[in-house]
Amino acid sequence: MKDVVVLSGGVGGARFTRALRDAAAGQGMRIRVIVNTADDMWMAGLRICPDLDSVTYTLAGVNDEQRGWGRIGETERVSAELHAWGIGWPWFTLGDLDLGMHIARTSLLRDGVPLSEAVARLTSRWDLGAELMPMTDDEVETHVVTGEGTMHFQEWWTRHRAKLPALGFDIRGAAEAVPAPGVVEAVLEADAVLFAPSNPVVSIGPILSVPGIREALASTSAPVVGVSPIIGGSVVRGMADACLTAVGTATDAAAVARRYGARSDGGVLDGWLVDLVDAHEVGELATRGITARAVPLWMTEAEAAQRLARDALALAGSL
Ligand code: GDP
Ligand code: CA
Repeated sequence: MKDVVVLSGGVGGARFTRALRDAAAGQGMRIRVIVNTADDMWMAGLRICPDLDSVTYTLAGVNDEQRGWGRIGETERVSAELHAWGIGWPWFTLGDLDLGMHIARTSLLRDGVPLSEAVARLTSRWDLGAELMPMTDDEVETHVVTGEGTMHFQEWWTRHRAKLPALGFDIRGAAEAVPAPGVVEAVLEADAVLFAPSNPVVSIGPILSVPGIREALASTSAPVVGVSPIIGGSVVRGMADACLTAVGTATDAAAVARRYGARSDGGVLDGWLVDLVDAHEVGELATRGITARAVPLWMTEAEAAQRLARDALALAGSL
């Protein structure tokens, strides 16, 4: 595989992409990552792009591995000042180094630079070993419909810890959005397309909702293989189960695959990796046109994560 495209959300996608890069080191593989931007928002006059930044920091090796998000060695002096002035959300803290990224990005955007170009310039600071592409240069923001009103995804996720029952997700701006330059071409040119084990509803879902991306996945000659973010009926980290419940999908590896659907049946997947504990689901998925394999899905150690990336490539190569 010389040319691999990954669809990614934030932290889960970042870990998978890093593992893929490291597993393929020295093989001359081109890795392009199409990253969800529907978690993005404006705050304190700055454009915040959580998933792009999670992938960037992780590939650059400047992420906080212990905490699971943000920059290593972070301080929060600026956020404390902003809170004292009543700017931004009191329950939402941005680190100082992280704010540096947001200021740099916003400065480029204010100069009329499209997000995709801003990402290319900002990520050139490090040797990431992968090219990051926002799914779109247009502003798309997921809002969550709850019994207590509709709110930005970040408010529902961070402030309410996804505890307010979600009635639905409104991916605002998606229907009018255009894929960022190179996104459709990347999918069409790829030798393999991999879905990272990212949140199916609010990370991969918004990418698929940008007109043109789903069509590119349907028509590419590359095999499309996904990795389940659900192991043994539970989320590995985070609160993706709340998102799945809201859209009527069981928190179950096979149910997520059925939600994506087989490419042979109008969906987006050819292959799907489930964990060993979900091996009993492989047969049922085959009857639906999805070739599933059961392999260890935990990305706890670097070695395990790289083996998972190799398993995804191997499944793609066998299709
Ligand atoms: P976010 O945007 O930061 O929420 O990150 P993503 O959407 O990219 O990934 C979140 C998903 O990653 C969660 O739903 C987790 O279930 C999944 N995840 C996290 N760690 C692992 C892991 O070690 N293995 C697998 N298979 N999934 C994981
Ligand atoms: Ca995210």
